[in-house]
Amino acid sequence: MCTGRVDLSFPLRAFLDGADGVFIGGCWLGECHYLTEGNYDALGNMHLLRKLMVRIGLDPRRLRLDWIAASEGSRFAQVMDAFAEEINTLGPLGSSEGLDPAALTEKLESLGQLVPQLKLLVREKLQVKVKSEEAYDKLYMGPKVDELLEALITDPAAASGPLPGYYIDPEACVGCLICKKRCPVQAIEGSNKTVHVIDPEICTHCGTCFYACPPKISAVHKVAAPG
Ligand code: SF4
Ligand code: SF4
Repeated sequence: MCTGRVDLSFPLRAFLDGADGVFIGGCWLGECHYLTEGNYDALGNMHLLRKLMVRIGLDPRRLRLDWIAASEGSRFAQVMDAFAEEINTLGPLGSSEGLDPAALTEKLESLGQLVPQLKLLVREKLQVKVKSEEAYDKLYMGPKVDELLEALITDPAAASGPLPGYYIDPEACVGCLICKKRCPVQAIEGSNKTVHVIDPEICTHCGTCFYACPPKISAVHKVAAPG
């Protein structure tokens, strides 16, 4: 899986499932196989998640992103050994940070509920024009992100406004499966070459399908939330 496909919710889910550490390994920046350069998205997401981990009292070293090419087997082994050693030193998630299991679950779940708003925030306020590690580090490590996160955590609805809804135009959908594979909560039904449908009961309004549907098809439509 491309690192750009690692949804903001995936590491949180891994922590909720009991992982003491999460490692995301991807292609080196500038060597993405796709025009989207998804590894830059992964870099931004990693910065956001680490900041959020600090806010709920977790050690951000438990989440690591590193660049490793498919040909760098020995580097992969070294990086993984070092990460495993670091996690062993940090100890079990939560209890090592003074959080009991119930408090840990509550905090992780509350972060998970913010994921749709976080995605909106990234798309609308945290786009980096220059694709460089320095530019991403400068933006995400700077005060703007802290201010936006503070506002979002304090009052998610006020910070992001009501989230739009999404529907799939059955006349346009070609059943390519892309949106279904990308939806982080499996809210999209459909099989190959059949029209896909969003289940509104499951949809979290994250907008991933809207951006994932190929522009030439544009079968996913956004519906403004009732104001
Ligand atoms: S259906 Fe679309 S908007 Fe809803 S959760 Fe899935 S990807 Fe996000
Ligand atoms: S990505 Fe677009 S065309 Fe493909 S299944 Fe989803 S809505 Fe249909």
